[in-house]
Amino acid sequence: MSERERGLVSVVDAGAGSPDPRIERIARHVRGILTELGLDLADPNLTETDRRVAKLYLEMFHGLEEGAEPAITTFPNEERYSAMVIEKQIPFYSMCAHHLVPFYGHAHLAYIPNDTILGLSKFSRILEFYAKRPQLQERLTEQVANYLENKLAPQGVMVVVEARHLCVEMRGVKKSGAVTVTSAIRGIFHQKPVREEFLDLVRRSDV
Ligand SMILES: [Zn+2]
Repeated sequence: MSERERGLVSVVDAGAGSPDPRIERIARHVRGILTELGLDLADPNLTETDRRVAKLYLEMFHGLEEGAEPAITTFPNEERYSAMVIEKQIPFYSMCAHHLVPFYGHAHLAYIPNDTILGLSKFSRILEFYAKRPQLQERLTEQVANYLENKLAPQGVMVVVEARHLCVEMRGVKKSGAVTVTSAIRGIFHQKPVREEFLDLVRRSDV
């Protein structure tokens, strides 16, 4: 997979053509913020910061770009597999929509198929697509669940997201290290035994 496919290279630098005009416009606003803070923009450490932040923002918010939605490979469920498919401990990084500072952690995604199964590498791509935008953990959790539900029409979906929020930790509202957990449940996962099987498999560290 190329860096561009993984979203590591923004559209900004990817082509040989002219640079994205948004870089200069965003950079101008960043300069305004730094100036308001009383910083000396002639400081060698700050001379390029405006443009670096602008490029970083376009990269971190790549999920907002038109065409950023990952191409999803699905397959017919020829074996009639009807148990749980779990992809757990998928790391992600996102930005809190309320404060524009990072929240990050892991997601555990599960579904039980009907007629369609998902290429295993796609779980993390879907998560990344929804993480790369100003986001709320609750909304991220729901959006990933909705996506799987709509694309696969499975018997059920469950998504659990565990994350640390720097807007909370850096401001000292809570003790550092607090983890926020959210979950979204669709279909058969509303049944307690199914949900418990998933949570049990997620907690196991020996797989
Ligand atoms: Zn926040």
